[in-house]
Formats: sequence, structure tokens, C-alpha cells
Amino acid sequence: MSVVDRQEWDVVVVGAGGAGLRAAVEARERGARTAVICKSLFGKAHTVMAEGGIAASMGNVNSGDNWQVHFRDTMRGGKFLNQWRMAELHAQEAPDRVWELETWGALFDRTKDGRISQRNFGGHEYPRLAHVGDRTGLELIRTLQQKIVSLQQEDFAETGDYESRLKVYQECTVTRILKDGDRVSGTFCYERESGRFFVLEAPSVIVATGGIGKSFKVTSNSWEYTGDGHALALLAGAPLLNMEFVQFHPTGMVWPPSVKGILVTESVRGDGGVLRNSEGKRFMFDYVPDVFKEKYAQSEEEGDRWYEDPDHNRRPPELLPRDEVARAINSEVKAGRGSPHGGVFLDVSTRMPAEVIRRRLPSMYHQFKELADVDITAEAMEVGPTCHYVMGGIAVESDTAAARGVPGLFAAGEVAGGMHGSNRLGGNSLSDLLVFGRRAGLHAARYAASAVQTGRPAVDETEVDAAAAEALRPFSAEGPEPGTGTGTEAALPGRDAVPAAGRPPENPYTLHQELQQAMNDLVGIIRREAEMEAALEKLAELRVRARRAGVEGHRQFNPGWHLALDLRNMLLVSECVARAALERTESRGGHTREDHPGMDRAWRRLNLLCRLADPTGGLAATDPVRGQIDLSRESTEPIRPDLLALFEKEELVKYLAEEELYE
Ligand code: FAD
Repeated sequence: MSVVDRQEWDVVVVGAGGAGLRAAVEARERGARTAVICKSLFGKAHTVMAEGGIAASMGNVNSGDNWQVHFRDTMRGGKFLNQWRMAELHAQEAPDRVWELETWGALFDRTKDGRISQRNFGGHEYPRLAHVGDRTGLELIRTLQQKIVSLQQEDFAETGDYESRLKVYQECTVTRILKDGDRVSGTFCYERESGRFFVLEAPSVIVATGGIGKSFKVTSNSWEYTGDGHALALLAGAPLLNMEFVQFHPTGMVWPPSVKGILVTESVRGDGGVLRNSEGKRFMFDYVPDVFKEKYAQSEEEGDRWYEDPDHNRRPPELLPRDEVARAINSEVKAGRGSPHGGVFLDVSTRMPAEVIRRRLPSMYHQFKELADVDITAEAMEVGPTCHYVMGGIAVESDTAAARGVPGLFAAGEVAGGMHGSNRLGGNSLSDLLVFGRRAGLHAARYAASAVQTGRPAVDETEVDAAAAEALRPFSAEGPEPGTGTGTEAALPGRDAVPAAGRPPENPYTLHQELQQAMNDLVGIIRREAEMEAALEKLAELRVRARRAGVEGHRQFNPGWHLALDLRNMLLVSECVARAALERTESRGGHTREDHPGMDRAWRRLNLLCRLADPTGGLAATDPVRGQIDLSRESTEPIRPDLLALFEKEELVKYLAEEELYE
């Protein structure tokens, strides 16, 4: 019988980034007693790093903008693989979510006539990104944090307890979603500082844990991005959608090595920055694909004129969607026209006065000055692709954010799949967090209210004991020979009973480094069949070794232990990425196959779903070499005719399969 401490809530939100906090505000406002739990300090989530802005068609800078144009841009950016209903809701609701933030205290940069200013970004037809300099994510989180505190103050006035209806558990990690039969019953968690285990019981759990970038060596992502939510959902029985689509942002720092991968915001190009190769050529003009030819400038002069007169000129190709720019940079470097440290040059110094650069791009100015000793007002930056965002994620219902197949489970933000198709446009994440965070909070609260009436799900003691045993395993990594163990962990899906193989423990840091190297080299920006097969073999080897990931010491703040636990998630998610990438024999958005270079219209009709193989814990789940993931194909839902009517027929021909056009 477990002695783990328990607390009862209506809704548990895992993650305190933009999606999690927006969901929590909504759930609490709908009357649900809501707990938020996060790995970092409250107010320090990855969203804080977001720089460029929030995409919303408010039409403040160009009145031609509206939700239909935003929808079109989003579908084009995602190469029509987006879950179109999500793209529609997102485009329609984003402006309200931005205005709402202002009513809660956010202060965006203004136009001369006092409206919220909007800036240009890749793939957006009009200036659309509401921003606060290049620190938009910080303002978003600060505002949501303030809103949460104000709700807690209201609760205090009524109940005498600030945390009676809304509580934040900071610096805590969820390692398992618990279930009562098919239904969610809560989360198993530990405090990172003390190592103490506890359970949050709730009929609704919203996963809002962000991305997976820490499985790759070069990444813009923070330490929190170990794919926990993706893995938690998989282990709870929910499928992941289109995990092959990983976005490599074209511009990360390439030098010095200690900062390689740190993001150089797209606002640099949105505000006039240009890309050049070692010969000084603005090479992007050579890389405009046919599907975008009519929309982008053919000459430097036209591209430059667009900044002043966007209604009579076409935008420069530096502002193509990210996948196109990243591939172009990769090709230039490969062709020997790269910068000294293996990137290309991004120049604002010859394009804007120094004081404008310092005002519009203050974080970039300081980032380069402090980390690379480069003054971007006087010289060009060196940049190259960096793993940035995962478009794949938990398969959800578009309107409700409910995860498929697991009643009570919801997902929002980067961890949810579908919204961005095969490639996300810059700025569309922050708006996604707000639109679908709100929807997840609303529907999770409704579901919890009905569950409370019909009977709360019960937390299963055996599952709690098994989750505790699983979390403690790294402290006893040396174990019996394979096949001889019968530990309590066997009660968990995705876990076998064999603790270890009688050999010395493996160092979790070494395993992590090898994983990152393999994913970077073998499932990175340009993919080849043989390399992805090699990646799957390497992942199988790492999975076996990770069973012996061991740590010394005790549970009080022990980063090695935390990493050993995160490895399970990174390995699961990496296997999903590699298997799906091997299966999709075409190039689309964030998935580029050298052996299948073209976009294949037949593939637009197909989604790839990853599920935990044999979640009951049978042979597949216990055989680390065979792998833990089953992959299946599923037809995409036909796009509603009134939404298709927003596009020219000539454009649709480029994306849709014959039969779809005919229909
Ligand atoms: P996050 O903000 O990452 O929050 C995840 C939360 O989950 C954290 O609180 C974390 O502690 C918690 N968590 C994770 N695992 C667990 C666990 N096991 N247990 C408990 N808690 C857990 N997008 C834009 O639209 N515009 C931009 O300008 C922009 N700029 C960016 C700049 C950078 C440098 C980067 C890296 C990304 C940028 N993005 C931008 C993308 C965007 O910031 C992210 O996609 C978005 O912030 C993700 O928000 P989220 O709420 O889904 O997750």
C-alpha cells in the first residue's frame, strides 16, 4: 500500500508555459478547482524565450489582413497537411486572444496612431505579429502569471485561502498519467528539490509540456524540452500525430560552440536583415520553389522596395517559410559557400541605422555582444539551422483539444499535433497557445464537472506503487540478468519487469549525448533511408543501455536522476520521429528526404500515427530491440469546401490529390 501524499483537484494542468497558464485561467474561471504543475519556477517556462511575436490578423498595420488570409498563410506554410479545423479556429480567434491579453495588463508595442503594432514574419502575407520588442514571450507569461495571481487574490477574499481554487506546484515533474480503466484519474509527480513523490488526483489532465528539442544536439530549446508530455500521453494510450515533422529554424547561432543553436529571431529578417553567402551573394533568390514563385520578389530591388511599399511589391525570399530558408542555408554551406564557422551571414548592419537595430532588436544586440563578441550594428552575424519546434504531437480533437482515445486527457500548445501541418509559421505558436490553451481549459473543466457528477475516477494503488518503483530504478541500476526480474513496474504500460542486466550502470549524461548526436546526424534536417535505419538501431542500443542508467547519491536535488528519468521520454519520442520519418517517402515542410526530394500529393491524404506497441506490457513492450512504437497510416479529413474556396484552383492543384480536386 502506497504512502504517497495525494491531493484532489478537478483539473490538473501539466506545464506552466503560455498554453498551460491560459488553460488554467480558463478552467478556474469556469469553476474547476485547478492545479498547475511545472518543472521550472513559475514564470520561467520556455515560452519566456519567444522573441518575435504573436500572429493575429488584427489588420492594424495593413487593413487587408483578416482571418481568411491568416488561414490561407497557415495552410500554405504547413503544406496543406494542417488539421484544417484547428487552422480555422486559430485564425478566427487569435485577435481576441491578443486583445484579451491587453485587458489583463500586457503592453504591446504601438503604431504611431496608438494601435498594437504588428511586424512582418516569414510566410505571413501582411505584417501580423503583435510584439513587445523581441521579448514577446516574456510579456505573455508575465501577463498570464499576473492574471493567475489576481484570481488567487479573488479566491483569498472569498475563502481565506489563496490556493483554494488555483494552485501552482513549481519545480515538480510529472512522470506518469494515472488511469482508472480507460479514464484519466490523475498524475504521479515528484518535487525536484526534495525528491518527494506525490499524486494529484483529477478527472481531467491537460498536457501542455512543450516540445522535444533536447533530443537533438543543436537546438534553440531550453532544458525543459525532453518530450515529457508526448511520452506521458503515449504511455497513457493516446496516439501521436505526424512526428516526422520537426522544424529546423534557419537562423541559430553557430559560434562559439558553447552557444551553438541559440536562436536568432526571424524578426531580424522581418525587419530588413538579409542572408548572404561567403561570396556576398543574397542567395535566397535562387531558392524560391515553384509553389511560392508568384508571391516573392524576383530581384533585390523589388524585395527592398517591399519594406516601404508592400502593396505594390512582393516580399523578399528571405521571408519564405522556415523550412525553405533552412534547406537553402544547408545547401549553400554544403556547396562550400558558407561562413568561417559553418553557417551563412545574416546582415542588418548595412540595412538599418545602429540606433534602430538597438531599439528594435535589443535582445539580439546583447546576445551577440555578450556571447560571441559580435556587434551586430557593425558586422554580420553567422547563422545556421537549429532544431526549434515540433509540429507533430498528441492527436487531439480540433474543437475541444481532447486527446484521442483517453477520456479526460487534453493537450494544448507545442505538445499537441495537427495545427501547423508539416511546418509552422513564425508567430503562430504563441497564438496557438492562447487559442487552444483556452479551449483545453474550457473543455477540461466541462468534462471534470460531468465526471464529478457521475463519479470521480479512482486512483489505482498498484499504479502508484509501480510509478514510484519506476522513478526509483536509477538508484539501483545494477540488477539481475534479463528475464529474471519481476518488479512492480511491470504494472505500467511500456515498462517490463527487468530492472537491469547485471552490468555496471550507464551514465545518463553519456546516453543523452549519444542520443543527441544520433538524432542530429541521422534524423536531422536532411534525411536518408539508410541513416534513419541506422538511427533506429542506435536507439535500440540506447534503450537497452538506458535500462541501466544509474545515479549515485539520494533524491534531494539530483540532476543526474532527473535526466535518467527524462531519458525514457526522449527515447520514446525519438523513436516516433525516426519511424515516422522513415515511413514518409516524400519531402514536405519540416521533413526533407534526400532520396524522395519532391512533395507527393498522394501523401497529403495521409497522417502517420504512433502508438505504444502492446500497451498491456506484452512482448513488444518488453523487447527493447524491437522498439516500443507501432506506426499506422490514417486518411486526413477532407478540407471543407468553403475553406477550399479561399484558394485559387491553380494553387490547390499543387497540393491536393487528383481525387480531392475532383471531389
Ligand atoms: P512551454 O512554454 O515550453 O511550457 C512547457 C511547460 O511544461 C513548462 O512549464 C515546463 O516546466 C513544463 N513541463 C514539461 N515537462 C513537464 C513534466 N514532465 N512535468 C511537469 N511540468 C513539465 N513562437 C512564436 O509564436 N513566436 C515567437 O516569437 C517565438 N520565438 C521563439 C524563440 C525561441 C528561442 C524559441 C525556442 C521558441 C520560440 N517560439 C516562438 C516557439 C514558442 O516559444 C513555443 O512553441 C511555445 O512557447 C511553447 O509553449 P508551451 O506552452 O506549449 O510550452
